[in-house]
Amino acid sequence: MEKAELLYEGKAKKMFATEDKQVIWVEYLDQATALNGVMKDQIQGKGELNNQITSRIFQYLTKKGIDNHFIDILSKTEQLVKKVEVIPLEVVVRNFAAGSFSKRLAVPEGTLLPEPIIEFYYKDDSLDDPFINEAHIAFLELATPAEIQEIKLIALQVNEALQELFAGIGLQLIDFKLEFGRLADGKILLADEISPDTCRLWDSDSHEHMDKDVYRRKIGNLVPVYQEVLARLNNYSF
Ligand code: ADP
Ligand code: UDP
Repeated sequence: MEKAELLYEGKAKKMFATEDKQVIWVEYLDQATALNGVMKDQIQGKGELNNQITSRIFQYLTKKGIDNHFIDILSKTEQLVKKVEVIPLEVVVRNFAAGSFSKRLAVPEGTLLPEPIIEFYYKDDSLDDPFINEAHIAFLELATPAEIQEIKLIALQVNEALQELFAGIGLQLIDFKLEFGRLADGKILLADEISPDTCRLWDSDSHEHMDKDVYRRKIGNLVPVYQEVLARLNNYSF
């Protein structure tokens, strides 16, 4: 497979075309951003860590029967994925209160939620990714009600599978963000990335942050933390 023209350069990845219209070549970048780009830094080694972590997690989900866009890892920083038409939604699943949920609702971080809570954010940087509900999604025609039902079902399946995986490597899955897209035949498929950039992971014993909050909150160095997450994932057999 050959890498062809650059289709899109985002904050964390570059997406390239390939000779197969249904396949894209993803390159993970050494860039960290937060607060919709207000914080932006080059962090050497971040791209290869997230590429390897995401690949391992998607391989695990495939094994668990959860279909997703991942095809193959190509190099330390590159992977091949099935091309989808991205649905511009950030689908957040929360098991414990943290981050914007804690702030908005004045619930202390770390409070266990009786049931997982799914939230939708409209993926639009110019609007700062606003929090929206299913009526807004229907009004904006981002997805049909049936697609939203499917997305919620898959998001909860991913949550079950990831909670088991992370518990097995001594991490609590506090919350995470997923993205979905449509294949050419309209099938909804889990896409994008699952890494410490997109999940909140707390060490089960020490409750230390093992995710992008070390960068967002300036409480430590990102690289050794992500290295530890990858090492634990690589030691976990599935
Ligand atoms: P951002 O756009 O937020 O800066 P990235 O740097 O992670 O994010 O860019 C990756 C882009 O590629 C995102 O817009 C994401 O929705 C999109 N994407 C992820 N997976 C796929 C896929 N399988 N097919 C097409 N686009 C994808
Ligand atoms: N998240 C993400 N990308 C975003 C916003 C959030 O991956 O653009 C993830 C974030 O890492 C966390 C979860 O979604 O795991 C919930 O984030 P929250 O709404 O609490 O926002 P934050 O506190 O990060 O602003």
